[in-house]
Amino acid sequence: MMQGKNVLVIDNQEVGRSSVVAAGIINPITGKKFVKSWKFDELQSVFVPFYRQVAQFLGENHFFEKTIYRTINDTAQLNEWNNRLGMEGYRGFMEAVKPDLPLFKTNGWIGQINNGYQLMIPKLLDDVRSLLKSRNSILEEKFDYEKFDATSITYKNIQAERIIFCEGFRGSQNPYFKNLDWIGTKGEVLLFEMNNFPRNTLFKSKMFATPFGQKNQIWFGANYENDYANVLPTPKRKEELQHLVEETFTGALKPVAHLAAIRPTNKDRRPYIGSHPNYKNVHILNGLGAKGSSLAPFLVLKLYAHIFENGAIENEFNVQRCTKLR
Ligand SMILES: Cc1cc2nc3c(=O)[nH]c(=O)nc-3n(C[C@H](O)[C@H](O)[C@H](O)COP(=O)(O)OP(=O)(O)OC[C@H]3O[C@@H](n4cnc5c(N)ncnc54)[C@H](O)[C@@H]3O)c2cc1C
Repeated sequence: MMQGKNVLVIDNQEVGRSSVVAAGIINPITGKKFVKSWKFDELQSVFVPFYRQVAQFLGENHFFEKTIYRTINDTAQLNEWNNRLGMEGYRGFMEAVKPDLPLFKTNGWIGQINNGYQLMIPKLLDDVRSLLKSRNSILEEKFDYEKFDATSITYKNIQAERIIFCEGFRGSQNPYFKNLDWIGTKGEVLLFEMNNFPRNTLFKSKMFATPFGQKNQIWFGANYENDYANVLPTPKRKEELQHLVEETFTGALKPVAHLAAIRPTNKDRRPYIGSHPNYKNVHILNGLGAKGSSLAPFLVLKLYAHIFENGAIENEFNVQRCTKLR
């Protein structure tokens, strides 16, 4: 749409879809060893201008810079942190450790990470949906694969030049792409209300805590689970998260909501973009895993260049790396 293309979106807001539960956190330094997130510098050079352009296009900003505070648990981690501080590629991303922050229970040290971001995904999607509706560019129904012809790109009575499947974890039910190496990783989240959480920060201990949605709402999560019975929130995980909330915050907090969704993950933990080997106008953009906010702009532009400018797609993202597709 931003490039003046005619689009029709078909989406029925499937239960368990990932984007509406995601906090949209982009964290440049991750894990116990404080390593730069995969391709972070390259992705950042794309997602910052991309989300600024989206804000201009929609007339509302959903993308914010955030300072990330994280716990440092013991002296081994403290040494690791101090080693990283001066390393090439890490300068400016990490600050010297600080003493405690009053809202949180910690072991005494807090690391500050710069160049963190948050994309308010649910609000962004609501605004895009409203725009699509105002342009008669959305069909709010379940896509029926039986009514689709992949050679002529005809769906019911609609004729298109091409189709891009972006179905999140439900991509595993798409007859054209069901043989990819799907996993699907469930995550559960608690929301609660808190007035004094600094809005321009994120906090990371065992879980992330961050402002989300309405003015005083805080998002707390999320776990990772590959073996689950369904897409719904479970009492067991709620109890675990509530316990972690108590371990994290100095004050008492009661959840106001409990959510669950499935991340679109796969075996090699790399995205899927590109064209179906047997149907050149059937495309996919999926496999965003736990990092949709930082990956999506880079992948969208790559897929666009592939489709409209004959651009190459590197093997590590290309859906055709999966030989089971043929
Ligand atoms: C608990 C949790 C926390 C997360 N936190 C973060 C985070 O902090 N930062 C981050 O970057 N990422 C995070 N993620 C990951 C992020 O949500 C995903 O990477 C990203 O949102 C995936 O987007 P998607 O569009 O591929 O899939 P989805 O968001 O699942 O969207 C798929 C869409 O396809 C539609 N659809 C599917 N099949 C059909 C059909 N047959 N007919 C019609 N419509 C259909 C669905 O309705 C849905 O709207 C988190 C995920 C979870 C679960």
